[in-house]
Amino acid sequence: MSETDESAADGSTPVEETATGAEPPSAEDDAAAGGSSPDPDLTDVMGAEADTPAGDDGDRYAPLEVEGLRKEFGGIVAVDEVSFDVEEGTLTGLIGPNGAGKSTTFNLITGMLDPTEGTVRFNGEEITGLQPHEISNRGLARTFQIARELEEMTVLENMMLAPKGQIGESLWRSVMPVTRGSVREQETDQLERVWEVLDFFEIDHLAQEYAGNLSGGQRKLLEMARALLTDPDMLLLDEPFAGVNPSLEKRLIEHIHELRERGYTFLIVEHDMDLIMNNCERVIVMHQGRILKDGTPAEIKESEEVIEAYLGGEV
Ligand code: ADP
Ligand code: MG
Repeated sequence: MSETDESAADGSTPVEETATGAEPPSAEDDAAAGGSSPDPDLTDVMGAEADTPAGDDGDRYAPLEVEGLRKEFGGIVAVDEVSFDVEEGTLTGLIGPNGAGKSTTFNLITGMLDPTEGTVRFNGEEITGLQPHEISNRGLARTFQIARELEEMTVLENMMLAPKGQIGESLWRSVMPVTRGSVREQETDQLERVWEVLDFFEIDHLAQEYAGNLSGGQRKLLEMARALLTDPDMLLLDEPFAGVNPSLEKRLIEHIHELRERGYTFLIVEHDMDLIMNNCERVIVMHQGRILKDGTPAEIKESEEVIEAYLGGEV
């Protein structure tokens, strides 16, 4: 099996192998609350926009605000009174033993499930109960597993089919002569960005490969690349490292750090505590549907309740 590392790329990768890539980021960049502007390169390369409305208080702006979230499935309360914010430009980890309610919380935020109670706000607007594509259009992206139909298409075709709110999607517009030119222009731009994102994730040499032939880790890179094409401000990842071999996991983490440094915000749902502890500046621990602890990795490590929850036979 050949991972992407081994294939000789053309040497034009924009990603440097930085020694700092895997270090926990500093939480002190309060410039973000003021007038943080995105890395100009990124704006070009990824089409990211830094809509960074300043917060009311002195804290860093929190694009995602979850309040009093509750989800019942029949008699089971999967998520109970869950409230937290995710601050801009951070890597925040949501961890907890199996069955803690992490995926349900993720699905409530991304519109896959409707909450029984509670609200989700993104960039200051309530998004509770919106459809997943509406939430994605507002800049809150999630990754999707490559569906079976997409396995029979190439990596490049997968990227071209990535969900996006572009003019070309509206057929009635594309057949109107006035806008035809702009549609064509947009498609050229789209193709250019597809290549830039593939290059960023170092999977450009796999462009003509069928998605079904990719390794587990390469699929994860493609899933993240597809999510980036939606021009998100923030990405939600549910167990992004599951089934990924250690060397590719390291690269995936480096890519996440690099994107964070460029102003993207991440909420990563994981059950692997060490992975989150070593890479996130803030960690939220769930247990039995509730938030058990919310703090820095150091604070979480010292928490008796957290240790008990993980050792309590429910892992
Ligand atoms: P985690 O992702 O932390 O492992 P989940 O959010 O998947 O946990 O599950 C939390 C709880 O909710 C579990 O007890 C699980 O069995 C239950 N649950 C999750 N999804 C459903 C569902 N669709 N129907 C019924 N129960 C569910
Ligand atoms: Mg889960």
